[in-house]
Amino acid sequence: MKVFGLFGEKLSHSLSPVIHNHFYHLLNIEATYSLYQIRPELLADAMKGIKALSLQGVNVTIPYKVKVMEYLDRISPEACRIGAVNTIFNSGDRLSGYNTDYIGFGKLLQRNDIDPTGKNAVVLGSGGAAKSVVAYLEDHNISNITIVSRNILQASTTVKHEVIDYDHLTSITKHDLLINCTPIGMHPNVHQSPLPQETIIKFNAVVDLIYNPATTQLMQQAKNTGIRSCNGLYMLVAQAAAAVEIWNGIKIQEELIDDVYNMLIENHIK
Ligand code: NAP
Repeated sequence: MKVFGLFGEKLSHSLSPVIHNHFYHLLNIEATYSLYQIRPELLADAMKGIKALSLQGVNVTIPYKVKVMEYLDRISPEACRIGAVNTIFNSGDRLSGYNTDYIGFGKLLQRNDIDPTGKNAVVLGSGGAAKSVVAYLEDHNISNITIVSRNILQASTTVKHEVIDYDHLTSITKHDLLINCTPIGMHPNVHQSPLPQETIIKFNAVVDLIYNPATTQLMQQAKNTGIRSCNGLYMLVAQAAAAVEIWNGIKIQEELIDDVYNMLIENHIK
């Protein structure tokens, strides 16, 4: 039996066990995926535990995506560039870190027929997910990226694009793509939106990385004015699929990702 899991601080609402265990069921691989809630002062011990307990792989979530990097033997080029790891593979003698949010975001765009080539994008937030999104856009011919942050000074030290605050965003002219990489609008704060309606109408498409609720307030605002939008559920499933590929040395077909995605919509997402 292969053993996988998720390292994080607060994991009670995580969908990852449902997603991964369903992949293994469909793939007919004997494996189990569990949640490991770790207190910050015990992270070093938990990292040693990966080899000691022969966990084949772990995912990493808030707040440890950066901190785990110091315990790894190897870090993939894209995870190095993004500065965050969300997937660790234990090959027995060494731990390797990857960033599959990058891959998941790409699959989300492809599924929704959003081609970044030549587009102007506005990214809300400057945290871990925003960095994966920016790296993907940079690698796929985006024309221009603007980051919107509550703290311009701090965000400017970690990204090489223009950083503006929320007040300045209201005065921008027409843009193509809006990507929400903040937690605003996430359950239970489902009535909150990061932006007013009059700003949203300046975009052609809205991508919200949030997946709970399925239709965020931001997406609803976009719909109200006929702008297409999508949530982050497919990204969540696709980044999990990429981790399953890395850990098991296999290729997962798009149809299988769709099966897990549909199972979530039917049983777990409102
Ligand atoms: P994070 O590292 O904590 O970053 C979130 C960023 O959002 C912060 O750096 C901050 O940027 C901004 N922010 C936080 N609280 C805010 C508030 N109250 N008002 C305005 N801005 C705020 O978190 P993350 O890992 O990047 O995740 C961000 C969101 O993406 C979460 O909702 C998460 O669930 C979602 N996500 C989805 C997927 C997926 O697969 N669909 C994957 C990863 C993350 P500034 O300080 O620059 O303003």
